[in-house]
Amino acid sequence: MKVYKFGGASVRNADGVRNLLKIIGDERDLFIVVSAMGKTTNALERVFAGLQRGDRTGALEEVAALRAYHAAIVDDLWHGPTQLERVEAFFAELEQTAAEGVYREEDAELWYDRIVAFGELISTSIISEYLAYAGVPNRWVDMRRALVTEQRHKDAEVDLAASAPRLRAEVEGRPERVFVGQGFIGGAPDGTTTTLGREGSDYSAAVAANILGAESMAVWKDVDGVLNADPKIFPDAVQIAELNYLDTIELAYSGAQIIHPRTIKPLQNSNIPLYVRPFGDKRKPGTVIRGVSAPVDVPILILKKDQVLLTIRSRDFSFVLEEKFAAIFSLLERYRIKTNLIHNSAVNLSLCIDDSWHVDQAVAALREEGFDVMKIERMELLTVRGYTDELWQRYASGSRVFIRQATQSTVRIVRKAEAPEQSK
Ligand code: ASP
Ligand code: MG
Repeated sequence: MKVYKFGGASVRNADGVRNLLKIIGDERDLFIVVSAMGKTTNALERVFAGLQRGDRTGALEEVAALRAYHAAIVDDLWHGPTQLERVEAFFAELEQTAAEGVYREEDAELWYDRIVAFGELISTSIISEYLAYAGVPNRWVDMRRALVTEQRHKDAEVDLAASAPRLRAEVEGRPERVFVGQGFIGGAPDGTTTTLGREGSDYSAAVAANILGAESMAVWKDVDGVLNADPKIFPDAVQIAELNYLDTIELAYSGAQIIHPRTIKPLQNSNIPLYVRPFGDKRKPGTVIRGVSAPVDVPILILKKDQVLLTIRSRDFSFVLEEKFAAIFSLLERYRIKTNLIHNSAVNLSLCIDDSWHVDQAVAALREEGFDVMKIERMELLTVRGYTDELWQRYASGSRVFIRQATQSTVRIVRKAEAPEQSK
């Protein structure tokens, strides 16, 4: 068995879906994991936001636009007006949720998951039907049932042991040799739908690879492979042929948009190689990520945007902030704050964290616990692995730099973002 994962950009239109078919070719014994088409998840987040604000009209307009977008892809694939039963049923359910759902703020995350999960449910339904239509018998797998997650919404982790028998039951002994499952979603023990965090489809695919004992996993992307930097930010980016798991985890954690940071563990645990391959050209080798790799001989630059810098100090100016670390971090964990860099001095603890809905709540809670908290928004975190004097000069100095942390190989810089507005 191999696992193939296709991201939203790859299946954003009918040509993308046709290309997916081409990539599959004669390959069988495949488990395919697919994301929502194009920017569907963003649109569904707006449906959720509409519901949250009580703006049902706005939410329903977003749903209507999504319906039209998917209908155009279906009509193109089937060469004429076509309705797919399961897709229609999902849209009807989504519409009903947006029109009639009784939203409660204390269940915000439950509602978020319920709504955004439709993106993958719909994309996989279209793709599964299309593969069948094109002569590739396959089985649509409902990952809400196959993957059991923890009882936590919006950013749930998969329970591998609980999921294994369920996912295997979906696959083993079936006549089909191609399976199509949703990335990004699962089901909590209480039966509600959960999601695994934005861009979580890679993680779903890795979990499937682990459980099914796959020989390899491939992520088909709109880049040639893993680059040493984001070419949109750093020109002269070059491709890296091989990476090991450890470096990849570090890179993903630093914000490299290679793959979701949780992806590596399930692969590493079963020693499954991960190929990052260009969706546009099946002949190109891409990048392979595995246990052992050739050393990387170019510096790697990663910019993580949408950061907030918190500086925390105990109000009585006590010198022993360390004693309070446990309290601070358990509070941050409660609000699911993702800490990317930690810097401490005698009386200060500075944290570079992902901006999220919950930052203000966490700051309020910290203040309640007796801390002074200073919050600086619109920051970014730059990580340079294998830095040189020249790169140090270029990035680690200057007035925008608030914190720099250097080891022998890596320098990490918290700096003010340049652009006035960060986009997600
Ligand atoms: N569709 C989800 C997202 O856009 C998951 C994914 O693409 O991996 O975040
Ligand atoms: Mg996506």
